Amino acid sequence: MNFEFKKSLGQNFLKDVNVIHKIVDSANIDKNTLVIEVGPGQGAISRLIVEKAKFTILYEIDPSLKWFLNNILKDSSNFKLVINDFLEEDVKSELSNYDYDKLYMVANLPYYITTPIVEKVINEEILPDKIVIMVQKEVASRFAASINTRDYGALTVFLNYYYKIYKLFDVSRNCFFPKPNVDSAVICMELKKDRLFVKNMDFFKKIVKDCFRYKRKNLRNNLIGYDLDKVSGVLSEYGLSLNDRAEALSLEIFVEIANELV
Ligand code: SAM
Repeated sequence: MNFEFKKSLGQNFLKDVNVIHKIVDSANIDKNTLVIEVGPGQGAISRLIVEKAKFTILYEIDPSLKWFLNNILKDSSNFKLVINDFLEEDVKSELSNYDYDKLYMVANLPYYITTPIVEKVINEEILPDKIVIMVQKEVASRFAASINTRDYGALTVFLNYYYKIYKLFDVSRNCFFPKPNVDSAVICMELKKDRLFVKNMDFFKKIVKDCFRYKRKNLRNNLIGYDLDKVSGVLSEYGLSLNDRAEALSLEIFVEIANELV
């Protein structure tokens, strides 16, 4: 069966057997786990995931991969292959059809939509207990960015609210076919069990985004229209002021400001 790689769909398939095993092993999937895989491609990691999991839902946008996936998984029945754009799928209602203890996401993501995929997982509150994903190396740094760094932004804050994030290992571009122009890293995100109390999640998300609206501007300029006296009151408890930029604020401070103002 011939296959034409589509660069526009981020089709860089894993060919390194060690890396394939390392990714799946590091997820610690067991028979109580429901796994979501986005972009299974020709099934490089899917076969191992399906073997270990209770059930796997695979979302692949490219219909010409259907044959390869059904072929590589032909001895299993504990999976569902959805041929569609993951971003358009109602994942939460799909999940309501299954009975499971833990939900994991394990994937070698298409790099052109890594951020929208992660945003979907957060915004639609799919919130897997564990996410093990391969991303572009620079993106790994952005997701795990600490405060006062250039990469620290609203998405970092939201991710940090829900997840403990750490890098597992780097992966060279030579481990893929076709070879991409960038190196990659596998990161793990573990859902936090003791999250901070947020009075109104929509308001929290809105004010965090507004704080970062113009990255070069300070909080006074980015938060026009909010009760600046109250914001200033919270900031001063931490030795900060409205003249600081959003990148100086930890998750705790964002939560406190949002709870104070809502
Ligand atoms: N998992 C395979 C591997 O490791 O060899 C393939 C990974 S490849 C980097 C990304 C895969 O995501 C491709 O198979 C591509 O067709 C698929 N893909 C791209 N955009 C997608 C989308 N919006 N929804 C679902 N799958 C998508």
